[in-house]
Amino acid sequence: MTRSTDRILTTHCGSLARPHDLLDLMKAKVTGQPYDHDTYARRVRSAVAEVVRRQIESGIDIPTDGEQGKPGFFAYVDERLAGFEARRGASSPGWAAEVAAFPEYYQEYFSHAMAGGAIAGGVKLTCTGPVSYRGHEAVRRDIDNLKAALAGLAPADVFMPAVAPSGVGANEYYRTDEEYLHAVAEAMHTEYRAIVDAGFLLQIDDPFLTDLYSGSPLSATERRRTAEMYVEAVNHGLRGIAPERVRFHTCYGINEGPRVHDAPLRDVLDVMVKVHAGAYAFEAANARHEHEYHVFEEIKMPEDKVLIPGVITHASNIVEHPELVAERIIRFARLVGRDNVIAGTDCGFSSQATYHPEVHPSVVWAKFRAMADGARLATTQLWPRWRTAPAWRQRSSGGSAGHAGLASSAPRRPRWPAQAVSGANMTRAAGAVS
Ligand SMILES: [Zn+2]
Repeated sequence: MTRSTDRILTTHCGSLARPHDLLDLMKAKVTGQPYDHDTYARRVRSAVAEVVRRQIESGIDIPTDGEQGKPGFFAYVDERLAGFEARRGASSPGWAAEVAAFPEYYQEYFSHAMAGGAIAGGVKLTCTGPVSYRGHEAVRRDIDNLKAALAGLAPADVFMPAVAPSGVGANEYYRTDEEYLHAVAEAMHTEYRAIVDAGFLLQIDDPFLTDLYSGSPLSATERRRTAEMYVEAVNHGLRGIAPERVRFHTCYGINEGPRVHDAPLRDVLDVMVKVHAGAYAFEAANARHEHEYHVFEEIKMPEDKVLIPGVITHASNIVEHPELVAERIIRFARLVGRDNVIAGTDCGFSSQATYHPEVHPSVVWAKFRAMADGARLATTQLWPRWRTAPAWRQRSSGGSAGHAGLASSAPRRPRWPAQAVSGANMTRAAGAVS
């Protein structure tokens, strides 16, 4: 696992808004309308190149393809796995306890957000036959596009997300849930392996683990048993893959709901760390979860594990102040060690291919810059040598373009890198909004 060995690194959780013209093409593709396949493939490739460049410019040290080639979660699964039937319009939005508590809010919210805002509405995948992997060409295309986008760039590392077995669909074919999850994990192993063999970090996306604990009707024993079954399935999919090349992301799916039923991190943490990953990414930058860093005052993480807490959130368009971002990073660094913290986001910024992501795309880039500025601030506090090191030394170990400003802007005892409030920076931010 890439670590924050001489400064705090930054990353995020994967999905980013697709450009409007690409959404138009995706809509045609997923709704069975005619579209030009070559034009589609070229636009995905150029969108990945644009989004990778923009991440680097915004100070992301460990970027990804922004899931520009995935027309949405269910379309992605359907493309990768055989054995499922896509049943249009049958999808339940989930979060039963939350929806029951706030029915008027969610009726209004789902009408335009989540699947309601997706280019092709809700689709439910049901397993009706033996599961097998059929996404060889699709994952090869994703890998090729990301590699092409990285030409001439040298980020600290690169990641690519893939779904956890537990979230793929409903089982109507296998005798037991264990058999079903085992079969899905067996199939997804091909995709996991391909991503790691391409030289990328594999991120397992698993919002389904926390869902078990969030207002679930299951008893504590049943919950535990099911959670362990989920984790065993993930680990079956990860067999033979070095944990250092894997990061695990869990979250609560809902972007802007009241979220009073979100499970506490404390309930999920011990089962989560059984996943054979080197790093764990989770929500820690919103009003339901920010306080949960206290959990690490009592629970000691294994020394070889890295935390990727959210220090900016997908649940609000407010751009976090870099000083707050730095505080969030430093809280974790003091509890688990500065090398074991990478600054991250609560979740992705467009898990569905949608014209209306909750956080406006222009705001996302401003959030990324705030995260990078906050990481620089945290670095100056966590590595005291940054406060006094000569500029040439800071420059030589700074790494990506996103951190070049530290060298030129760090005064002898910086409270605030000048770059963060300079006129040039403000101009960049304004330009992004237009
Ligand atoms: Zn997430």
